[in-house]
Amino acid sequence: MQVAVIGAGVIGVSTAYFLAEAGHEVVVIERHNNVAEEASFGDSGILAPSSIAPWAAPGVPRSLLSYLLKAESPLALNQMWKPSMLRWMRRWLKESNLERYRINRERMQRIAFYSRDLMQQLREQHQLDYEQTPGYLQLFRSEQDLRLAQTAFDFLTEFNIPHNALTAANAHALEPGLNPNTPLAGGLYLPEDESGNCPLFTRQIRALAQAMGVEFHFGSKVNTIQQSERGVVMQIDDRSFSADSVVLATGTDSAKLLAPLGLHLPLCAVKSYSATTTIRNFESAPVAAVMDETYKVAITRMGKRIRVAGTAELGSSTQELRQSALNTLLKVGYDWFPDACNYNTAAFWSGTSLMLPDGPPVIGATSVRNVFVNIGHGSTGWAMAAGSGKVLADIISDRTPDIDIDGLTPLRYR
Ligand SMILES: Cc1cc2nc3c(=O)[nH]c(=O)nc-3n(C[C@H](O)[C@H](O)[C@H](O)COP(=O)(O)OP(=O)(O)OC[C@H]3O[C@@H](n4cnc5c(N)ncnc54)[C@H](O)[C@@H]3O)c2cc1C
Repeated sequence: MQVAVIGAGVIGVSTAYFLAEAGHEVVVIERHNNVAEEASFGDSGILAPSSIAPWAAPGVPRSLLSYLLKAESPLALNQMWKPSMLRWMRRWLKESNLERYRINRERMQRIAFYSRDLMQQLREQHQLDYEQTPGYLQLFRSEQDLRLAQTAFDFLTEFNIPHNALTAANAHALEPGLNPNTPLAGGLYLPEDESGNCPLFTRQIRALAQAMGVEFHFGSKVNTIQQSERGVVMQIDDRSFSADSVVLATGTDSAKLLAPLGLHLPLCAVKSYSATTTIRNFESAPVAAVMDETYKVAITRMGKRIRVAGTAELGSSTQELRQSALNTLLKVGYDWFPDACNYNTAAFWSGTSLMLPDGPPVIGATSVRNVFVNIGHGSTGWAMAAGSGKVLADIISDRTPDIDIDGLTPLRYR
């Protein structure tokens, strides 16, 4: 079968790889001139299936909303007056009770753990090196933040996920570069989680996919998708392109292609920022990935560089760099690893992902024949990419996926 994958971010490229492995003829259509040029370009690099969780969690909406009036905040809201945004917020709040949190978190972890296993297999099979670093440390500045994380701690214990609750002294022993002057109530160490360089991984998977015959059509923007006798026909600039099936791995712009097909999903744009700079003092730099749970800002090691990334602007997808968001990144960088590098000289970047109110992505067939989606991965798409790609390739190939896909397909929004 000939399958066209629209979008060459980490999700589209992973999907193309597994489709080719399943024996399909695959074409990837991408408007940029390379892979991983949008959300997949500057992400934090955290691959943390153990702690992956929906934003909709007990106590979280109230805690995040309380930050809105502060100068340094993990959250900003845009276009709140828009009916679609209000509807999204209402659904998000409805998903924030304990029962829904547990269901949604289990769904996200199912795909993320599967993804981690596949990445390990890919790594061994093809000797991939994408600057992966083992271990993930979460930091809680105050007792209140620790209390808020109790549901997450309980979940880890209940599901036997390896984790160590740390005192401040334990956390400093694990990460000797941590600034002793920044208040720290405690930490959580997840030894089986890791971090890595998402665009580097995507480029390596592209090379493997190309070696299996996948064609990449860069500089090609799909404007419309229509059903045809054969399957689907896409309008790309001034030409048409036909295929038996199409996969939308289109990140932020998915709604523009889905709406004319009568497909409507409650997708909200979430814009985040990153700052990347070269390490000048290796003894003072993080050993592995660290997350400031109070500001929801990650500090990751990428070879000889450090990336500080996070903050979220709901409802925004512009490329504008908001100074207060950059200030939050700089504050967190200087608070924890002040001597590791000069954060003021960092390369700043922003990217947008799409999030559904309950948290898990939608992977599978839509109600329009031959049109499939792999979208809505929110702020954890890199951690779910390989698993999402393999699951969708299995669905398209009429094979039973290796994991239960209940709650991960578009069916939950029909
Ligand atoms: C600052 C930041 C930090 C993050 N940190 C993490 C993290 O630590 N861990 C984690 O797991 N996730 C993280 N994420 C989320 C993760 O980066 C995304 O979920 C993931 O990259 C989404 O991949 P994607 O392929 O769906 O989207 P994208 O990378 O945006 O790719 C979509 C592609 O589709 C193309 N496209 C769209 N429309 C068309 C069209 N009409 N025609 C042709 N091409 C089209 C675009 O050009 C783009 O290349 C972070 C995100 C950001 C912004």
